[in-house]
Amino acid sequence: MKIAIVGAGIVGVTTAYELAADGHQVTVFDQRSAAAEEASFATAGLLAPHLLNPWAVPGFGQALRLTGADATLRLAGGLSRAHLAWLWRWRGQARRLSAPAAALERLAQYSQTRLHAIAARHELDFEASEGRLVLLRTEQDGAALQPALQVLRDAGVALREIDADTARQIEPGLSPEAPLAGAIHLPGAGAGNCRLFAQHLRQGMQGAGVDFAFNTRIDRISTQPVGLAVQGDADLRRFDAVVLCAGMASAALLPPLGLRLPMAAVQGYSVSAPLREDTHAPRASVVDAAQQISIARLGQRVRIAGGADLAGADARHHAPTLQRLYRTLNDWFPGGAQLSSGVQVWRGARTLLPDGAPVLGASGLPGLWLNTGHGAGGWALACGCARAVADLMAGREPEVPLADLGLRDF
Ligand SMILES: Cc1cc2nc3c(=O)[nH]c(=O)nc-3n(C[C@H](O)[C@H](O)[C@H](O)COP(=O)(O)OP(=O)(O)OC[C@H]3O[C@@H](n4cnc5c(N)ncnc54)[C@H](O)[C@@H]3O)c2cc1C
Repeated sequence: MKIAIVGAGIVGVTTAYELAADGHQVTVFDQRSAAAEEASFATAGLLAPHLLNPWAVPGFGQALRLTGADATLRLAGGLSRAHLAWLWRWRGQARRLSAPAAALERLAQYSQTRLHAIAARHELDFEASEGRLVLLRTEQDGAALQPALQVLRDAGVALREIDADTARQIEPGLSPEAPLAGAIHLPGAGAGNCRLFAQHLRQGMQGAGVDFAFNTRIDRISTQPVGLAVQGDADLRRFDAVVLCAGMASAALLPPLGLRLPMAAVQGYSVSAPLREDTHAPRASVVDAAQQISIARLGQRVRIAGGADLAGADARHHAPTLQRLYRTLNDWFPGGAQLSSGVQVWRGARTLLPDGAPVLGASGLPGLWLNTGHGAGGWALACGCARAVADLMAGREPEVPLADLGLRDF
């Protein structure tokens, strides 16, 4: 088939890879000048297990505090009724623990296996590391995570609840003064540089049957006939199928076709800084459960990520949130990163549906397929989602069960 993909973030690039591997002729359209320039640019880097990653799903130990100094979601200016409706639904899912957590975790495990297979096959270096500690400042932090740990155990994920001394043996850079009650050790957890992986994969595909049309904005998707209207073009470009992988922009491209996804952009931040002292930095990745902030080693850099703003698109960077990231780094790994120069600060959007899970598969409209709404897990889920969507398009049953992850009633 002749297939168009809208979006060259991590989801669009991996989808192109799998569809080309199935023998399709693929063109990827992106309004930006390179792959992974928007949400996939500077993610925290965390791969599976997904459920304990900040903002993975509503509930399951992910605290939702809207006020006070320890708020986990900041309601900023420019909020619309749609934002508030989304928040209402997210809170409802959190109370009922009704997110499709088990299905998402299986998908994340499957995705990680595929990602490593692709990296090995094409010798892609993406600054990968293995192993994670979820750091618990208090006993209560650990108690809140028990429902999530049960889902992980049921999914066969290796994990241990460990004391502070054992945690410090695993991550010797952890400050001896840090307030550590214990940790959850996930020895098989992965992390790596999402943008680097997307760019390597794109370069490899360029000569292998996939065309990338950068600086090309799609104004409209058509399903009868199937095709795309490119900004500035008079004629529709015709394809046999279109796969929508446009991140947050998917929410705007669908309504003219009669489809609405109740997505919200929950903005987060990352700070990437050069490694200063190897022995004071993380070896792999850690997550501060109470702060919902992660610290990961990415090659010769340390990346701290967190914060969540529900805000209008033009809201400014929130300086106190960035300070919280620096403070958390200093709590756990003082002296690990060089903060005086060479620091990259980034803000990006988690495109979150009210249950935290993406929408995968047929749209119900002729020729249009969906791979969008990956929330806080686009990097962790991309390779698995890409293979599953390619299987569905070929009329095959995906290797991983996708119950509850198709187009659903929100
Ligand atoms: C602070 C932070 C930390 C995160 N940490 C993690 C993590 O540790 N692990 C994890 O798994 N996930 C993480 N995420 C989530 C992850 O970043 C996203 O889920 C993922 O990047 C989404 O990828 P995507 O390809 O769907 O979207 P994007 O990367 O946004 O790609 C969409 C692409 O579509 C293009 N596009 C949009 N509209 C059009 C149009 N009309 N025409 C042409 N092109 C268009 C855009 O230019 C863009 O390139 C994090 C997010 C944030 C904000």
